[in-house]
Amino acid sequence: MSAKYVFVTGGVVSSLGKGLAAASIGCLLESRGLRVNMMKFDPYLNVDPGTMSPFQHGEVFVTDDGAETDLDLGHYERFTHAPLSRDNNLTTGRIYEQIILKERRGDYLGKTVQVIPHVTNEIKNAMRKVSSNGADVTIVEIGGTVGDIESLPFLEAIRQMRQELGRENTVFVHLTLIPWIAAAQELKTKPTQHSVKELLSIGIQADILLCRCDRNLSREMKQKIAAFCNVEERAVVAAKDVPSIYEVPLGFAQEGVDALILKYLHKDAPEADLSKWKDLVDRCYHPKDEVSIAIVGKYVEYEDSYKSLKEALTHGAISQNLKLKITWIEAEGLESKSPGDRSYESQLEDFDGILVPGGFGKRGIEGMLNAIRYAREKQVPYFGICLGMQTACIEFARNVCGLKDANSSEFDPATQHRVIYKLRELLGVEEMGGTMRLGAWTCVLQEDSLASRAYGGATEISERHRHRYEFNREYEALLTGGGLRLSGTTPDATYVEIVEIPGHPYFLGCQFHPEFKSKPLEPHPLFREFIIASYKNRLNRAADIVKLSPKALV
Ligand code: GLN
Repeated sequence: MSAKYVFVTGGVVSSLGKGLAAASIGCLLESRGLRVNMMKFDPYLNVDPGTMSPFQHGEVFVTDDGAETDLDLGHYERFTHAPLSRDNNLTTGRIYEQIILKERRGDYLGKTVQVIPHVTNEIKNAMRKVSSNGADVTIVEIGGTVGDIESLPFLEAIRQMRQELGRENTVFVHLTLIPWIAAAQELKTKPTQHSVKELLSIGIQADILLCRCDRNLSREMKQKIAAFCNVEERAVVAAKDVPSIYEVPLGFAQEGVDALILKYLHKDAPEADLSKWKDLVDRCYHPKDEVSIAIVGKYVEYEDSYKSLKEALTHGAISQNLKLKITWIEAEGLESKSPGDRSYESQLEDFDGILVPGGFGKRGIEGMLNAIRYAREKQVPYFGICLGMQTACIEFARNVCGLKDANSSEFDPATQHRVIYKLRELLGVEEMGGTMRLGAWTCVLQEDSLASRAYGGATEISERHRHRYEFNREYEALLTGGGLRLSGTTPDATYVEIVEIPGHPYFLGCQFHPEFKSKPLEPHPLFREFIIASYKNRLNRAADIVKLSPKALV
């Protein structure tokens, strides 16, 4: 049986949520018992987003095999069970790198190497590789917007796929915008018509139009779009704005997207079972209370830099029927103006939990250390992720163990006490990405620790990494003597993976990024427990306020 593909393209403007749309289609097909795989092509020339600034590109998502990928792969993993690896996200840069390598090796036997057929063949081979691992349907998202110069080879490749595999094995889904023009009090279809025409000019007739709009599309409107764009009326799908992204698959189901895709693909499948997603959305819209978390970091003004983190916290909150309120705090703003200055404390008073996420470089570190000190001393739940674990160790070394100049060699290469350092450089480990430790690593958990309890008593877990610096075990005796517990390490004990403070309501730092493995229907245990502890803190604080002001009861 031939492999089946859904190709997702975007038109009119970027940021319409193409990744989320592709992931939602994947979710719907999975809910009908099909096995899906998902991949994304990014038309830019960087070989991968690993070196791109979080301000420009948002988060770098990491897969188990250590690929640094586009954040849309995060949506795919959260909405489906597609097995993702470095094969599932390719950029123009990566494709050209592969071709040039072959050319230098003489693989092209003296031929002129050209965009068509060599680049397009490389793209098609990449799709075949992903679809060959047993998926019923492979969903391929083409990054960028139709009309971009860079997208052309990818669009040509999917055009050829349709030509080779036939209509019954390929569906073209095009995401567009139907803007509401306030002056005319009307929804406008012209940009969609133009975008569909642009696709047609390169030989692709869209089959299904996902129309982003801020209100319902009337029957007449759908008929008009269908007529102008040459699609069935029921293939004009209103992708209306929704308050929660978890509602998107439900909205698509209601518009019959999955049934239509299956019809076009000549594929039978059972009815969709979306009960868990319905329940999730229901809990999301009817929280019993709120939990308020401060995220103290560096890239906080651009929320896409912490996409998976925000998601994982949300999953934890929904699992407890809570509404998550995140306050992003720029770490630099928490720095002390003079020795002993604790004015930062007033900025942290109103939160139920504090989190320091991953990050690179020196800026803001002193502010993070202040936030961690506050959380440690005031018994406020603290969750440190990667950089947030490293800074927790530095704070503990400085303020509990008396090592005043404890630091990471990342922030002060000349420090006397490098509690955090580049261990891999010393070990002489060189891999892809230089000395970066990337992808899934096994971690052994100590019995009866906060970590092992959170993971349901597990003794071994696997989590994903993306960092260069590590805990320096030369300081282990001193820090554990002061009360820090190293509750997780790699099986060979080379790398310290988790630290915690026993007796504190929740003080945990992990060297890995647990946010990459949290899903809405399977919240990550460390986030869930952090939310539970933070909510307890909220209730305790509320009770204290009542105690302090008995009049409030009258
Ligand atoms: N900058 C730190 C390191 O390279 C932490 C990285 C991170 O938080 N992902 O080790």
